[in-house]
Amino acid sequence: MPIHSFHPPQRTLMGPGPSDVSPRVLEAMSRPTIGHLDPRFIEMMDEIKQLLQYAFQTKNELTMPVSGPGSAGMETCFVNLVQPGDTVVVCQNGVFGGRMKENVERCGATAIMVENAWGEAVDPGKLEDALKKNGAAKLVAFVHAETSTGAQSDAKTLVDIAHRHDCLTIVDAVTSLGGTPLKVDDWGIDAIYSGSQKCLSCTPGLSPVSFSARALEVIKNRKHKVQSWFMDLNLVMAYWGSGAKRAYHHTAPINALYGLHEALVILQDEGMENAWRRHQHNHEALRAGIEAMGLSFVVKPEARLPQLNSINIPAGVDDAAVRKELLNSYQLEIGAGLGAMAGKVWRIGLMGHASNPRNVLLCLGALDDVLSRAGARINKGIAVAAADRVLS
Ligand SMILES: *Cc1c(COP(=O)(O)O)cnc(C)c1O
Repeated sequence: MPIHSFHPPQRTLMGPGPSDVSPRVLEAMSRPTIGHLDPRFIEMMDEIKQLLQYAFQTKNELTMPVSGPGSAGMETCFVNLVQPGDTVVVCQNGVFGGRMKENVERCGATAIMVENAWGEAVDPGKLEDALKKNGAAKLVAFVHAETSTGAQSDAKTLVDIAHRHDCLTIVDAVTSLGGTPLKVDDWGIDAIYSGSQKCLSCTPGLSPVSFSARALEVIKNRKHKVQSWFMDLNLVMAYWGSGAKRAYHHTAPINALYGLHEALVILQDEGMENAWRRHQHNHEALRAGIEAMGLSFVVKPEARLPQLNSINIPAGVDDAAVRKELLNSYQLEIGAGLGAMAGKVWRIGLMGHASNPRNVLLCLGALDDVLSRAGARINKGIAVAAADRVLS
């Protein structure tokens, strides 16, 4: 029996990523493949760089997409900036901070962990204490938007503290870029990585990164070769770097980059501030509905991410059965809890293209129905109207 072409179902993606991809991005990706050294392609690369500088709010020369998912951008930051024997302070308040620790240790360095409760922002006082105790630390790493919990940390304050202690900073902005205010130059972030499939509404598989001049100095003056040939920016810069001869390093994912270019054009046309406002507004509508239903948020209001809403699963409700029913009856995907929060929370994404009133109302209506049918004790039939009042 021959295997036929794959036709995925149409879903609405309201989990922690991937988020719904704009049809404009999918259309851009179906355009003809050209060579990765074609002059027209190189022009487009330069535009991607400019568009990313706008998205990150930076003038950093070394701003580009890594050919790989957010995790590849994460690893690119660590393998280039961390050297064997270094001490790195890692702030953890969820799953992704744990991955930073893994990265540090695999670079032959020591990770000093600053532990914060999951669901809370990173405590600047704890970072300050850790840096006072560990004078040898060279780098501070933290996650701006913890997708595993829905908590947002005060990146500007954390970067200021790191700099006062002569440390460079690595910031995970996979979920924040495009969804919540992020200002790389104003805040003085030294190295940052993001992902294409969260608030940029592109397909998964690309990771925008940006490095300050200070970070670049460290990378150029390393004593040890970067352990990863593929991610060594000293080599990648021959292709992506400014004034580079665009020498072959690896074959760029041509059509994926068409998609990222289109996603960034959409963001530019909307305007960063407008995109941030839209995420906030749709979050407030969702919140009104969730709370009217009688459900509660995991994160305190002041640290809540608008693009990732963690909701406590009501007592006696079967997590997996509800998500399965949402998928089957409504073609709607929401996220399960991750790590220590598995089975206890749902993560409802309102990211990028998916952050719109239609999705807010769809999700609330679907939850209302599925939870009622499951016998959960919720205030039935009022969530959609509550959200609608915020939207109109
Ligand atoms: C999704 C995510 C990542 C990993 O990105 P992938 O594209 O899945 O590799 C890293 N950090 C955070 C905060 C994320 O949300």
